[in-house]
Amino acid sequence: MNRPYNFSAGPAVLPESVLERAAEEMLDFAGSGMSVMEMSHRGKEFTRIATEAEADLRELMAIPTNYKVLFLQGGATTQFSAIPLNLSGEGARVDYLNTGFWSDRATVEAKRLADVNVVASGEAGKYTAIPERSQWQLSKDAAYFHYCANETIHGVEFQSVPQVGDVPVICDMSSTILSRPVDVSKFGLIYAGAQKNIGPAGLTVVIVRDDLIGHARAKTPYLLDYKVMADNGSMPNTPPSYAWYIAGLVFKWVKEQGGLAAMAERNQRKSAALYKAIDESSFYKNPVQKDCRSWMNVPFTLADAGLEKTFQDEAKKEGLLTLAGHRSVGGMRASLYNAMPEEGVLKLTEFMADFARRHG
Ligand SMILES: *Cc1c(COP(=O)(O)O)cnc(C)c1O
Repeated sequence: MNRPYNFSAGPAVLPESVLERAAEEMLDFAGSGMSVMEMSHRGKEFTRIATEAEADLRELMAIPTNYKVLFLQGGATTQFSAIPLNLSGEGARVDYLNTGFWSDRATVEAKRLADVNVVASGEAGKYTAIPERSQWQLSKDAAYFHYCANETIHGVEFQSVPQVGDVPVICDMSSTILSRPVDVSKFGLIYAGAQKNIGPAGLTVVIVRDDLIGHARAKTPYLLDYKVMADNGSMPNTPPSYAWYIAGLVFKWVKEQGGLAAMAERNQRKSAALYKAIDESSFYKNPVQKDCRSWMNVPFTLADAGLEKTFQDEAKKEGLLTLAGHRSVGGMRASLYNAMPEEGVLKLTEFMADFARRHG
């Protein structure tokens, strides 16, 4: 079967070999006579799946031993609430940097729960750049600093970890985790919904430093308390077991590809090829400042917005799927996560050049 190339921002493309392995194991996982979906999360098969997934993720990201890795439900959006509840006391001040749709959503939720200081905002510039570091108004007494490493909708990505002093750095890495190496020790907490670069929807990974666990507010819901999750191996109740299993297969796939350094090289090449195709054409345009362009999500517009539907229809006929931009911004967007092969990007750039010739 010749599968099309899927540029969806999430849920997103998964490695074909992972899907094939899951298909092979669907009816009978490792001689158990059961699908992973059907087995107890407390049994020996699933315990091994869970333990291996954590060990592989720890190895891939070189996660220090003083960090817990939690496998949770509720998406990144649930973390928008869990973070202030766990990491700031009632009425405490917290710092948020606004670089686009997702960090804004995190800020709005935090405002319900804490005294939020918006350090800086890219909104006036339509989120086409990260506000200059010299303009940031950091609080002296913030419980933490929150930012989004890659804005999935606006295509704005940090190329390094911001320096904000001693305050714990909390990062939404939903759409960039595993795409390049990161120094986990620079963070207090990293979180990511799985459905971009890790696996299926329904799983959220949280990597949190030990000393930040155990300070949840008294009224924090049981399942949002990091201590409850950490003390119970992320299983105080039934975990998203199938999504966890697929994530484990993806971690093994990333290791086979050469780990995060190899992924980074490939992701950098893929995005460079697409930005080159956009920049060298007068028909396409990406509005993001060059030093913060995303490797993962590349939004672009056509010279004539009236051609968007035609572009998508023709692309689909060529086996290039899900290129519409997010409903909040319009235009086009190509997401180039780890599992998008380089041939997919090449095919997209060839289609774009041909489309511009015919319609430009
Ligand atoms: C997709 C996404 C979210 C929201 O994730 P859910 O799992 O749908 O809650 C949050 N932040 C970023 C950066 C995202 O890409």
